[in-house]
Parts: sequence; structure tokens; C-alpha cells
Amino acid sequence: MTFPSQILDPSIKSWPNAWRKTNLLACNKLKTKLIISCEHAVNTVPAKYSSFFKDNEAVLSTHRAYDIGAIELYETLVQKLNPDYCLKGEVSRLLIELNRSLHHPQLFSDFTKSLSKEEKEELIANYYRPYRAEIENFITSNIKSNFNILHFSIHSFTNELNGIKRNADLGILYDPKSALEKEFVRIYKNELSMHLPSFRVRFNYPYLGTADGFTSHLRKKFPQQYAGIELELNNTYAAAENFREIQMKLGKALVSVRPKSIILSSQAL
Ligand SMILES: [Zn+2]
Repeated sequence: MTFPSQILDPSIKSWPNAWRKTNLLACNKLKTKLIISCEHAVNTVPAKYSSFFKDNEAVLSTHRAYDIGAIELYETLVQKLNPDYCLKGEVSRLLIELNRSLHHPQLFSDFTKSLSKEEKEELIANYYRPYRAEIENFITSNIKSNFNILHFSIHSFTNELNGIKRNADLGILYDPKSALEKEFVRIYKNELSMHLPSFRVRFNYPYLGTADGFTSHLRKKFPQQYAGIELELNNTYAAAENFREIQMKLGKALVSVRPKSIILSSQAL
């Protein structure tokens, strides 16, 4: 069995570089660009909109306003994986939800859903469209230049929702119909079992990778050359003493996902 010569190139020292140089979406012969994003990175509310929260400022410190701990994990992964492109949201999801489609009922929160059409349009024009367009434009131009795209979208979830405790430390969200995503997450979970053996890792939990979201949208828009995986960390780790160590191990396990093994397995698909 032979492999594309670049996979065996001994000059490739770091695996993220190898991801770039290899044919990660195994069915075609294209090289890969890596994107890391964080849609719910912050709880920032620009002064212009602060009056919406004047009776309920405390909500801005909760998981409803942002993904607690996600920005730290995002920054660690950016540092460790050195992606070709990275982007984080700049406003609270209680203003506008960057990870929902424009038609979704949760695009606006309880604090913004009663705004006028013009005010909503302003939020869409100032925050939503620029964020989504930046990533979409990067993907469009790179696909035109014959690259594949691998996208990690970084999130966190609350340990308890509506009185129900969630039983996972990390959720890996993907589309089971995508052979590459399926193979990638299988190998990543296996790597995680070595780097973080006590971690409870679940696929498509607490949400489905195919539910309405930015990666789902991109998967539909770029069906041939795009793979989008969401990482959902249990946000109790944001307060843990070993949070930094956990971020590093999540990154290390990701770096250990070797393109060669994906190609090997994909050939059998
Ligand atoms: Zn999120």
C-alpha cells in the first residue's frame, strides 16, 4: 500500500503542519487548512446596549451570557495548533447568538427579542454578519484555491440545566454522515483516553452536531471540502485548579490525531 509522499516527509515535525500538508479529507487529493473559532467567547455588552440588562446585570456572569472557560481553551488550542485562521465572538450571545441561523427562534434572547426590526437589523449587521462572513470568506477563497477545511468550534456547557445534571466532561459534536468527521472524532476520543483517562467523553452530547449551528451551516454550504467539529467542555473545569493542564491535554490529544491513521482507515470506508 502506498501513501502520498508528503505524509512520509521526515521534515514534518509538528502534526498540525502535517495536517496542513496532507489530504485529511481522504477522498480527494487536496491539502488542508485549519480554522479554530469560539462563538460564545465573551459576555461583553457594548455601552449602547447596556440598558437592556440594567435590571439583571447578574445574568451576564452566567453561562446564559457566554461559554464559561471556552475562551481559555480556545486560546490554548490556538497557541498549540497554530491554525491558519482563528476568530472569536466579541459580544454576549444574549445580544445576538452567532451560533444560530438567522431564521432560528433563539437568534435573539429574552433581552433582545422584543427589539424593533431596525434594532435587530443593526445587531445582525454589526456583529452577526461580520463574524460569519469572515469565516465563510476564508473558507470560500481557500476552497477555490483547492484546499480542504478542518474547523474546530470551541464551546462549553453548563453542568446542570433545568435541574438535570449532565454526565460528561467533554462533548464532541459531529455529523455521523461525514466519514472524515466520524473517523477524526473516533481517533481523537481514543487519544483522549490516553491523555485524560478519567475524562468522560461523549459524542454528540449534550447537543447533536447536526443541530442548527455554525458548523452545520458550513457543512451544508461546503459539502465536499469542509469538516466541522464542535468541542463542548463541561464548564465546571473553568474553576478547577488543573484547568490549564486539562486545556493542554485536550490540545495534546488533538495534535496526536495523526492524519496518516485517518487516511488509512478512510481507505477502508
Ligand atoms: Zn457555545
